[in-house]
Amino acid sequence: MTKHGTLGVAVIGTGRMGADHVRRINAVTSGARVAAVVDIDAERAKQLADGIDGCTAYTDPAGAMASPDVDAVLIASPGPVHEAALLQAFERDLPVLCEKPLTPDAASALRVLEAEQKLGHRRVQVGFMRRYDAEYLKLKALLDSGQFGRTLLLHCRHRNASTPPGFTSQMMINDSVVHEIDTTRWLLEQEITAVTVLRPRPSSAAPDGLADPQFVLFETAGGAVVDVEIFVNCGWGYQVQCEAVCESGSARVGDGHAMVTNAAGRWGGEIDADFVSRFEDAYDREVQQWVDATRRGEVEGPTAWDGYAAAAVCEAGVRAQATGERTSTNLVERPALYR
Ligand code: NAD
Repeated sequence: MTKHGTLGVAVIGTGRMGADHVRRINAVTSGARVAAVVDIDAERAKQLADGIDGCTAYTDPAGAMASPDVDAVLIASPGPVHEAALLQAFERDLPVLCEKPLTPDAASALRVLEAEQKLGHRRVQVGFMRRYDAEYLKLKALLDSGQFGRTLLLHCRHRNASTPPGFTSQMMINDSVVHEIDTTRWLLEQEITAVTVLRPRPSSAAPDGLADPQFVLFETAGGAVVDVEIFVNCGWGYQVQCEAVCESGSARVGDGHAMVTNAAGRWGGEIDADFVSRFEDAYDREVQQWVDATRRGEVEGPTAWDGYAAAAVCEAGVRAQATGERTSTNLVERPALYR
């Protein structure tokens, strides 16, 4: 940490999420500053760095991590290059906030778990930001209180207005449903043991070759069942909803009723356009809590184990998508560091 106790953060990957995190650390987060930005697109990194006092642009994560100004790393590059950056951060024993996914598959996530275990202490928080959303936090507190008894079912909806070109059916699991995978494990504190994927007839607005929407079912170790509607080209906006059905009550979040308007004989409200606006507060809280914990010398939040478990369930989900069959997950035993 610098002599002022401000955490110097290197942000790796300055695309949509990375640039937003740079803005956040500069303008919203207290106790941290952006000391370095890294992007293989040198011009992009330089442009960002030029606008920030004391920030240096790099094209290589290792170069930034070697800087004495860098105390911690925020990884927001594409999933396939997370493993290399994580292992480089471990070599320097630097704390990391890694955007989801930890890595894109279970085998590489296991390598990260092994490397972190070799360090002997946890260093990684994974960017599953729903755990920091005010509504999800309320739902979690309610379920944990036991007021409504055991949770039997979760009904989840995950809708995007549209997808960028090249968005595949597998990405519906790996990039989108991965959030419901983490939400389920976090809310219920149970591992997911099996996945089934049903494909209704595609929407006529679905891009060629994309089976959209899909209906995903999880079974959990404790016997709960979770359904997820994933509809990534719904056309009307970004909606993430979750209803927990318990033994003596149910609770739902994500209805977006922050403000209801009445006019001209109709009532209504607004639907978020994308995750950046829907989860803005959650991202702010996630990064602030990471900075606060790091400055205290602690590691909190979703662990590398959570990242691994999500990757393993995604793999089962992609197999279930391809075969149409109920597919068991196959997780290794949870190492002591993550118990
Ligand atoms: P993006 O494509 O907009 O940006 C990625 C950036 O990383 C690009 O500028 C690219 O040049 C750079 N890059 C590529 N390889 C690199 C490397 N080896 N080293 C440094 N920089 C490199 O992607 P994005 O949408 O910003 O996604 C980034 C990450 O954030 C992904 O892991 C994605 O899954 C995650 N994400 C999370 C959420 C969330 O809600 N938590 C939402 C969107 C994306």
